[in-house]
Amino acid sequence: MANKFSCTECNFLNCHSRGKEFPRKCLTTAEGNEELLQESLSSFSDDPQVNQIMQASAQVEGQYYGQLTRVEEIVVFAKKIGARKIGIASCFGVIQENRIFADILRANGFETFGVLCKVGATDKCSVGIADQDKIKPGGYEAMCNPIMQAELCNQEKTDLNVISGLCVGHDSLFIKYSAAPVTYLIVKDRVLAHNPIGALNTSHSYYKRLLSGVALNESDRALGNAAERKINRNR
Ligand code: SF4
Repeated sequence: MANKFSCTECNFLNCHSRGKEFPRKCLTTAEGNEELLQESLSSFSDDPQVNQIMQASAQVEGQYYGQLTRVEEIVVFAKKIGARKIGIASCFGVIQENRIFADILRANGFETFGVLCKVGATDKCSVGIADQDKIKPGGYEAMCNPIMQAELCNQEKTDLNVISGLCVGHDSLFIKYSAAPVTYLIVKDRVLAHNPIGALNTSHSYYKRLLSGVALNESDRALGNAAERKINRNR
């Protein structure tokens, strides 16, 4: 499939320092993008919440660059945006760590509200997930319910929600349904101790295989083909 030139293919990175040239198909200088740029800049000044988040994140970066852990950055960021109550969307697998995180937030004056991914205690089959797609087919296996996690945080009127260990895709749904702004603490990677960049850092050696395509099982290949056919039909 032909891939449109974008920033991941750019070796100039001139938007960062403006010391060289912009590439021919640069996303900064491309026709029509000037308008998008101006619209985005207007949002930063016109929307008070966007402005506050932008200022706070820039201050966290600029004032504490390389000095704070992510945990500390979240504390400082939350203070800067005036958050009082923080939702923690927790994965079952890292609940111990999230208990500590909640302690840290409380020690810094925040109210916390944690919701586990398994809230609702519902079997996966209830939402049409096939029994054979369970980790251990044949018995009750609790589904993750990121929508309920988000709605419970919304009910509690949390000012900021922190995703901590949610599965890929469940995090997408949590973000979609969360009323409050969302940031991440733990990005789940069951293989790499929640350090997904490890696969990229070792893609020249141990994880070389990733560059020749991720190995999919038969059913996933069939799903992928069907999705691709649908995309092509809609083009
Ligand atoms: S915006 Fe332009 S210069 Fe910056 S990374 Fe993208 S293509 Fe390269």
